[in-house]
Parts: sequence; C-alpha cells; structure tokens
Amino acid sequence: MNDCIFCKIISGEIPSEKFYEDDLMIVIADISPKAAKHYLAIPKKHYKLFSEMSEADAVDLGKCIRKIGEIAPSLGLENGFRFVINQGDDGEQTVFHLHMHLLGGQKLTTCDHRKSV
Ligand code: 5GP
Ligand code: ZN
Repeated sequence: MNDCIFCKIISGEIPSEKFYEDDLMIVIADISPKAAKHYLAIPKKHYKLFSEMSEADAVDLGKCIRKIGEIAPSLGLENGFRFVINQGDDGEQTVFHLHMHLLGGQKLTTCDHRKSV
C-alpha cells in the first residue's frame, strides 16, 4: 500500500490537481489521456479488485458513482462519457488501486467492448 501511486496522490505526498474531492474519492486528470477529457475517479480506500471489497466499500463506491453523475457537467462531460474500470491482467489494469476512468469531451468511437472477437 505504501508504494501505491494513487494512495500517494490521495495523501498529497505526490502533488496533483484535484478536480473534485470529498471524504470518499478524488478526481484527477489521467497523466496519459486517451480522450479529449480523461479523468480518474479514485476511491480513497485502497483495494485492487471488486473481489476485495467489503459490503461497506460497495456502498461507498455506489455513492462515488452517483456523485460522478452529479459533477460530470463541471468536468466538461455534459454530453456524456464512457465509464471504465479495468480489473486484473486480462483487463489490463496497470495501477492496482481500484479507480474509474471517465472518458469524454469528444464522440468516442473505437473501444474493445464494441469489437467482435
Ligand atoms: P489502469 O490501466 O490501471 O486502468 O489505469 C491506470 C491509469 O493511471 C492509466 O491511464 C495511467 O495513464 C494513469 N496514471 C498512472 N500513473 C499516474 C500518475 O502518476 N498520475 C496520473 N494522473 N495518472 C496516472
Ligand atoms: Zn492505493
């Protein structure tokens, strides 16, 4: 946990512009954006996978998701956005602190989940 980059951003050990913050999550810009607007909504509690969540974590994550809907217009996502959570190796998760990608600010086209196998 001490080596977790997102925990360090949450604690302020690594400075970062926070577009939103409350007691449950922060929203920052992705360092390597994949869309005109690309944010990361990061729950403050550290866990890697859905399977590691407690019931209380699930309630908190639901609150975070509801809040994302509320603040989306202030993030420039008023026309909609894509919401992505990558899990594990096959999901190509690279930072092992569960987080939500918010992608928008443009019409999104290509995405794996729309391609036939
Ligand atoms: P994942 O691949 O785990 O779903 O997403 C991790 C995301 O975190 C990637 O899109 C990557 O660009 C982003 N990221 C990695 N390190 C940093 C960082 O230090 N700051 C910010 N803002 N984003 C980061
Ligand atoms: Zn963490």
